[in-house]
Amino acid sequence: MNQYDVTVIGSGPGGYVAAIRCAQLGLKTALIEKYPTLGGTCLNVGCIPSKALLDSSEHYHNAHSVFADHGIGLDNLTVDMNRMIDRKAGVVKANVDGIAYLMKKNKIDVLTGVGSFVDKTHISIAPTEGGEAQQIETKNVIIATGSKPTVLPFIAQDKERIITSTEALNIREVPRHMMVIGGGVIGLEMASVYARLGAKVSVIEFMDSLIPTMDRGLGKELKRVLGKIGIEFFMSHKVTGATREGDSVTVTATNPKGEEVKFEGDYCLVAVGRVPYTAGLNLEAAGIEMEERGRIKVDAHLQTNVPGIYAIGDVVRGAMLAHKAEEEGVFVAETIVGQKPHINYLLIPGVVYTWPEVAGVGYTEEQLKEQGKAYKIGSFPFKASGRARASGDTDGFVKVLADKTTDEILGVHMIGPRIADLIAEAVTAMEFRASAEDVARMSHSHPTYAEAMKEACLAATENRAIHM
Ligand code: FAD
Ligand code: NAD
Repeated sequence: MNQYDVTVIGSGPGGYVAAIRCAQLGLKTALIEKYPTLGGTCLNVGCIPSKALLDSSEHYHNAHSVFADHGIGLDNLTVDMNRMIDRKAGVVKANVDGIAYLMKKNKIDVLTGVGSFVDKTHISIAPTEGGEAQQIETKNVIIATGSKPTVLPFIAQDKERIITSTEALNIREVPRHMMVIGGGVIGLEMASVYARLGAKVSVIEFMDSLIPTMDRGLGKELKRVLGKIGIEFFMSHKVTGATREGDSVTVTATNPKGEEVKFEGDYCLVAVGRVPYTAGLNLEAAGIEMEERGRIKVDAHLQTNVPGIYAIGDVVRGAMLAHKAEEEGVFVAETIVGQKPHINYLLIPGVVYTWPEVAGVGYTEEQLKEQGKAYKIGSFPFKASGRARASGDTDGFVKVLADKTTDEILGVHMIGPRIADLIAEAVTAMEFRASAEDVARMSHSHPTYAEAMKEACLAATENRAIHM
């Protein structure tokens, strides 16, 4: 029987990063994955394919609706959905092949099949295609089995017309009318893809604001801007059912007045969150405790109630984000060898890859109010940025929240061009506990979108933004 120092179950961004860090630290490491390709949700059916389609659809939208403004004329513009979806598949393949290469490079044994506990130190790996299960012995285990889409019990998903994000990344036609249940991250990214390609898109959201967990101002501005590309929003609507007849789907919901309303379209995407995935792990055999909402219970070191067994990523508490899972993978590997790593969960940024992009880090204004914290706000609109005027991306703003007394930056919330990358400046500043004035006094190249961060910090310091 093969013996390992560490066995990682699940090869998503949590699992494969944990495996690489373990190998770097000299631990004999195995990585178990039930699918034939590595990379988990993120690389196969999440972050990477969704961004590939967001990029393709953005090119089309710009060619269709923006180029003319720059004096560029195009005739006979077409969309070839087969080619777009094939390109996306190629992007996914390049990424998952890259993970296989990294496993070889780091001498990590990849074992394909469903991993399940026999006891605390033995794991069986059952090939998904059938055949003999093999067993291994291990000193430590890192569970990184991720999550799956939440199912609404009153909606039967046939995965053809009533679909999850996985199928929404594989539609080989432009839908006539895509109905999206849930105005969260997945709902808005996929709504953007299909609206840009020319589909009618309706987003039906239970709450009264979009991306409700982010700073409220962001969802409000995003709704306004996405409305301009034709997405229709039905807020405070409680979906009660969705049924399919042939190629037509009918969604029923209760509107804020308590009346029943119906929507008819050819596709319905259900994007109402994700739940931790632990099926097949046989956690009971190792005596691992769970907590509410199907998550594995862990302590501050991400260790379960069983010494030597850890859990990371979407399967434990916290934001369901790839970079959060990666940080936790490194954290656990370093913990196993006796180091004292640290994760500042407050500074895990959240990003929505719509256009304009949306990003936030630190406390939201609503959280600061709840805490009774005295804060000041510095805000700078992209319509006052020279770079944004040049590119024609003048929607959105950067908002900096700083401590009223000390000027320390407590939160940064942005909506605008390329701010998925710009938020890294806010994370860096906050990690070093910068004051708004610290950032305001740093030189930012001109003309860049990043100048909006400097201007917002100037505005927070003493209301002394230069360009507004
Ligand atoms: P996962 O990536 O879910 O990987 C878990 C792996 O474990 C899977 O490969 C699974 O097959 C395997 N597994 C499960 N059980 C077993 C078992 N018993 N034996 C063997 N293998 C098993 N996050 C971002 O930060 N940025 C984004 O832009 C982003 N976009 C997204 C877009 C979509 C459409 C979706 C659905 C998600 C997106 N996410 C994004 C979220 C991100 O994908 C997850 O947070 C991330 O993948 C979690 O990583 P993980 O390692 O915890 O689990
Ligand atoms: P989410 O939690 O972001 O949004 C779900 C939305 O559905 C919420 O706005 C919620 O109010 C709404 N909702 C819930 N029940 C509803 C109902 N019955 N009717 C109408 N609306 C309802 O979840 P998601 O968009 O499914 O994404 C899942 C996870 O994947 C998220 O945790 C997210 O962090 C991650 N993700 C991240 C990215 C990114 O980082 N760019 C992209 C995609 C997914």
